[in-house]
Formats: sequence, C-alpha cells, structure tokens
Amino acid sequence: MKTINTFEFKALPYSYDALEPFIDKLTLEIHYGKHHKAYYDNFMAAIKGTEIESMDIMDILRNISNFPVAVRNNGGGYFNHTFYWEGMKASGGGSPTGKLSDAIIKSFTSFDEFKKQFSEAGKTRFGSGWAWLSLDDKGKLFISSTPNQDNPLMNLAEKKGTPLLVMDVWEHAYYLKYQNKRPDYIDAFWNVVNWEEVAKRYETALN
Ligand code: MN
Repeated sequence: MKTINTFEFKALPYSYDALEPFIDKLTLEIHYGKHHKAYYDNFMAAIKGTEIESMDIMDILRNISNFPVAVRNNGGGYFNHTFYWEGMKASGGGSPTGKLSDAIIKSFTSFDEFKKQFSEAGKTRFGSGWAWLSLDDKGKLFISSTPNQDNPLMNLAEKKGTPLLVMDVWEHAYYLKYQNKRPDYIDAFWNVVNWEEVAKRYETALN
C-alpha cells in the first residue's frame, strides 16, 4: 500500500524516432505526448481525493469493477500505454529465446503460428482496443484482445491473466503512417518487439 499518490507518467524508454521506420516519429510524439498523457491526467483527476489514490495500480485494475468507469478507461489507458512502450525497442524484433520460446512453441506449435494468431487478434478487434499475450493462473500462455482500454488484469476481462506482450490497435497508434491499413502496422510491429523485456515479464509472472 502506498501512503501517497505516486503514479508516474514515465518517460518514453527511447527517443521519438527510435522505432522508425516501423512506427514513425510523429505518431509516437502524439501517441505518447497527447493520448497517453491525457489518459494519465484524466486518471489522476478521477482518483483525486479518493481511496484509490493510495492503491497500487495492479490492485486497482484487478478490482476494476468496484470503481467508476472513468477509472476503468483512464487507469487502463495509463497502464496499457506504459506496458506497450516498454515492450518495444529500437532494433527489436527477431524471436524470443530460452524458456519463453519453449513456452510459445508448446502453446502455439511454432513461433510463426503464435505471430499469426496474435496478429489475427489485432486485425479482428472491431473498433479500438489491444491484442495481448498473457499467462493464465494455471501457467498457460494465451492470446486475447480487449476493447477500449480494458486489459487482462481487469476482473471483468473475458480472459484473465498476467499480460506479457501488448499491441495497441487503436487508429491513433498507426493512422498517420498506415491510414486504414491496420494489417500493415501489425506486420511492422514485429520489428520493434522487445523480446528481452517480454521474457523478463514471463519469468516474473511464473514466480
Ligand atoms: Mn494508444
């Protein structure tokens, strides 16, 4: 339990042009500086003076059905974007190694099949939302998608688990560069995935 509000609007872990040409500089500037910042500001406004201010973000999300919809939308937007930024890096991509690689192959038969299913989850999310790779409470990997700013931590999610990798498929994540071609953005996303970070999240989630 925190005694004071320490929710942080974290700096991007790389420069605005670090993910070029896959995710362009202008998109990153607006997405982080305007969209993410607005979720953060609105989240802060929604919890000001309430008991939620002293709660941990994970506890808030896991008990989200107890709180107003502004907390769900903006707390989700605050968390999801930080998780998205940290799951990418310059010169990312390739494929995971070690335990995470083994688990992906075991769950999806191959890394290519995993990519196909995850991409499909992003392509078929109607409207705005996110595609996720998560670990369920039985230690099994699964792919899901969530609408709006929901995520698999939320107690009202269709499939609940600990998120490991996320892809934003809101239009604001790709429209300036890819316009209506969401599948092209999804193909490009694989070039910036930070697999070392995803592997770390997997190790942490297992323990
Ligand atoms: Mn977004």
